[in-house]
Amino acid sequence: MATKRDYYEVLGVDRDAGEADIKKSFRRLARELHPDVNPGDQHAEERFREVAEAYEVLSDADTRARYDRFGHAGVDGSSLHTDQFMDFGSLSDLLGAFFGDDLFGGGMSRGPQRGADAAVAVELTFVEAAFGVSRELEMEVVGPCEHCAGSGAKPPSQPERCETCGGQGRVQRVQQTALGQFVQTGACPTCGGRGVTVSDPCRVCRGHGRTPTQQSVEVQIPAGIADGQRLQLRGRGHHGEPGAPAGDLYVAVRVAADPRFQRDGNDIVAVLDLPFTKAALGTTVSVETLDGAHELELKPGTQPGDVITLRGKGVPVLNGRGRGHHRVLVNVLMPSRLTDEQRRLLAEFEATADEDTYRADESFMSRIRSAFS
Ligand SMILES: [Zn+2]
Ligand SMILES: [Zn+2]
Repeated sequence: MATKRDYYEVLGVDRDAGEADIKKSFRRLARELHPDVNPGDQHAEERFREVAEAYEVLSDADTRARYDRFGHAGVDGSSLHTDQFMDFGSLSDLLGAFFGDDLFGGGMSRGPQRGADAAVAVELTFVEAAFGVSRELEMEVVGPCEHCAGSGAKPPSQPERCETCGGQGRVQRVQQTALGQFVQTGACPTCGGRGVTVSDPCRVCRGHGRTPTQQSVEVQIPAGIADGQRLQLRGRGHHGEPGAPAGDLYVAVRVAADPRFQRDGNDIVAVLDLPFTKAALGTTVSVETLDGAHELELKPGTQPGDVITLRGKGVPVLNGRGRGHHRVLVNVLMPSRLTDEQRRLLAEFEATADEDTYRADESFMSRIRSAFS
């Protein structure tokens, strides 16, 4: 067997450390190393055993005195109960038992369990997602049994007070460990913390008080929600055990694509196909926005890639104020087939065109320049 490490070193305390310091250090290390916190971690488990053994020896004045005088040889012969630490159960049980504290906030007792969370998906159109919509969603959840009104007892019988805990739902357990006897309070094993038992169970829910139920939930989907986002509705999930709250309902939002619009944050980006003649001559076109048709004026000499911004015509800000913009990106269509007549007309135009015809305005040139600088 490998050389054993010094117990004080294992716990990281001085040789003259007081009882409280030893306890404090053990608690800190146990929290770090307990198998509950490190499932499957062999190293952590070995360290935990080492720490538990060190604590067992140093927390007892007798064994500590022997260890101080003779080292490991002084205590090796004594029966160590380290395995009791390992077999004790969960970490919160262990620490709750030794220190009477509530490690994870939930206490060591398992009372009636909260209901599980439920999930449902909702499919929206692009416009519904932009402006928000109210939806009636149907789903199956675990709900109170209607036959026995959730009591679990076959009507007209009623649940009886639990004899083990006298209706308290909690019992005290006395356990013997290396550190002596201590009393642990936990949920009553007979009634699971409910304080009542059912001798004649409801045949519909077999005494659980809950059954799968069809539930209909009205969901307000806020304006501006995007594909892939999720809403959380508190307490609308599966019902809990009697006396415990229901779980939450998660609504996964799917937004269908719309060929007219692309979403870019809160902005809408739409491509406008514009024949080259209209781009050159200027025109008025009707573009689709979230608010419906919008008359858009395009100046003569509109260029491919020009962007016209319709302010405040985009998607409403989710849980906020205002809206994004609607940006129209101009795509100039060039003819791909020409009739003889059209070719003649274009040749005629070409003969009259010069450099000046294609000279971009200054602001465009400065944009180009800054793009390449
Ligand atoms: Zn009970
Ligand atoms: Zn029932």
